[in-house]
Amino acid sequence: MKNFNYLIGDPETKECAYVDPAWEVDRLLKMAKADGYQVKKIFLTHNHFDHVDGVEEVVQETGAEVYIHSLDEQPIKKGKGRLVQLSDGMEITIGSFRVTALNTPGHTPGSTCYLVQQHLFTGDTLFQGNCGRCDLPGGDPKAMFRSLQKLANLDPETKVYPGHDYGLMPITTIGYEKEHNPTLKVGSLADFDQIP
Ligand SMILES: [Zn+2]
Repeated sequence: MKNFNYLIGDPETKECAYVDPAWEVDRLLKMAKADGYQVKKIFLTHNHFDHVDGVEEVVQETGAEVYIHSLDEQPIKKGKGRLVQLSDGMEITIGSFRVTALNTPGHTPGSTCYLVQQHLFTGDTLFQGNCGRCDLPGGDPKAMFRSLQKLANLDPETKVYPGHDYGLMPITTIGYEKEHNPTLKVGSLADFDQIP
């Protein structure tokens, strides 16, 4: 499965957000602690178990708030954590950083990408070389096409941090994907549907 877990931290305030806690949560919590960071927020890109199975543990250890789009809120087990429902374009802060939540439905209805300056955390919406599956419950190829077009409009220099290590390299850019990723290169839904 090769999931990526990410921590976004402000070195000034030592506050950080944990993106999609799953699998080796204790390892990341230890890393945060060793560097003097406090996990204040959990940013979820969507509700699939391989992105959320560590939420309760992180909440228990840190008391972090849990951010997820309202359409993907079920079946998040947040323990005692406060749940914050995201909407498209909503701005959140982590330390002094401003984070914008972009609703990018297609893989799931509430799939969300998080944009922090020129860093984009894409969950299962955009991978290096491909996009997420649209054939699971809640998936929608039409919505995925529109979501990918929305991401393609971001600054080409934007760094992309996907939810899984499915490509040639772990981190990519919008510009690189626009040139090389068939799901971002296509100009119409009809062409998008033809991609195997
Ligand atoms: Zn998924």
